[in-house]
Amino acid sequence: MSRIDGKAVAAKLRDEVAEKVEHFRRKVGRAPGLAVVLVGDDPASNVYVGAKGKATVEAGMESFTHRLPAATSEGELIRLVRRLNADEKVDGILVQLPLPDHIDADRVIDAIDPKKDVDGFHVINAGRLSVGQDALVPCTPYGCLHLLKQQLGDLSGKHAVVIGRSNIVGKPMAQLLLQENATVTIAHSRTRNLPELARSADILVAAVGRPEMVKADWIKPGATVIDVGINRLPPASEGEKGRLVGDVDFAGAESVAEAITPVPGGVGPMTIAMLLRNTLVAAYAREGLDAPG
Ligand code: NDP
Repeated sequence: MSRIDGKAVAAKLRDEVAEKVEHFRRKVGRAPGLAVVLVGDDPASNVYVGAKGKATVEAGMESFTHRLPAATSEGELIRLVRRLNADEKVDGILVQLPLPDHIDADRVIDAIDPKKDVDGFHVINAGRLSVGQDALVPCTPYGCLHLLKQQLGDLSGKHAVVIGRSNIVGKPMAQLLLQENATVTIAHSRTRNLPELARSADILVAAVGRPEMVKADWIKPGATVIDVGINRLPPASEGEKGRLVGDVDFAGAESVAEAITPVPGGVGPMTIAMLLRNTLVAAYAREGLDAPG
């Protein structure tokens, strides 16, 4: 019955990254660099890109933000990605998703040098993760794993149910849990008897995008619950902003679970911390230095 404080864990992680950035700077004579590319003016993406740039600078790294108009063609975007691939000062490249409809996100991600793919979405990194080789791992599931290990220590033999099978969250989450020797079940929109399945989980990860779908009676007493969902409810009255909630009915679940991440303040802050960490790892690797640990 405790809340997992993602904000505090992320702050500690960001401090550790900042120390290692300093070490890198002394050794190599430059700071690690992260390039973030935004196409169009989606307000949520704009906020995320701003937050990523700010966090990068706070960690002592160099931030390069490229804001392109919504009408940018796929070819132009790919040419920018190739320039960033060749740029010695850039260790990490992140193209903010979603992209406008006329651009094929897969083709753009394919163009990123896998060694600079700090989002971990390139098929080379997805493949490396699935066969257990060193990879740049998608930031959100990597952050979830970090929280789970902090909370539980050894995950070996535990039954983990991951609800959601996206390439960004669900699938890499399942791979990471498998690597930790958990017994993993992946559920999705066609899964039968989901409440019953969820109730068999020692670790329940919800990455669906449906507000408060997971109810208290879906949770095994004593389970650890990681809520990845970020959903905005309709505003209670005009002129207000709707409340942010996760995929789990937090108020009900809190009394059943042993530990649970709140929304906001759980998984969200971990995503940016892991992006910084991935940029650091990419920078060390590009310079032929040992992994920063
Ligand atoms: P996607 O929409 O890509 O995937 C959602 C998954 O949920 C799909 O696999 C889908 O199944 C499954 N699903 C949908 N409805 C149901 C249902 N009724 N029962 C069981 N499974 C269902 O979303 P993402 O993975 O990108 O994101 C999931 C959530 O996490 C969103 O709320 C998003 O905002 C949030 N998010 C948060 C981040 C953070 O930093 N905290 C980062 C990334 C995402 P199927 O495959 O069968 O369609």
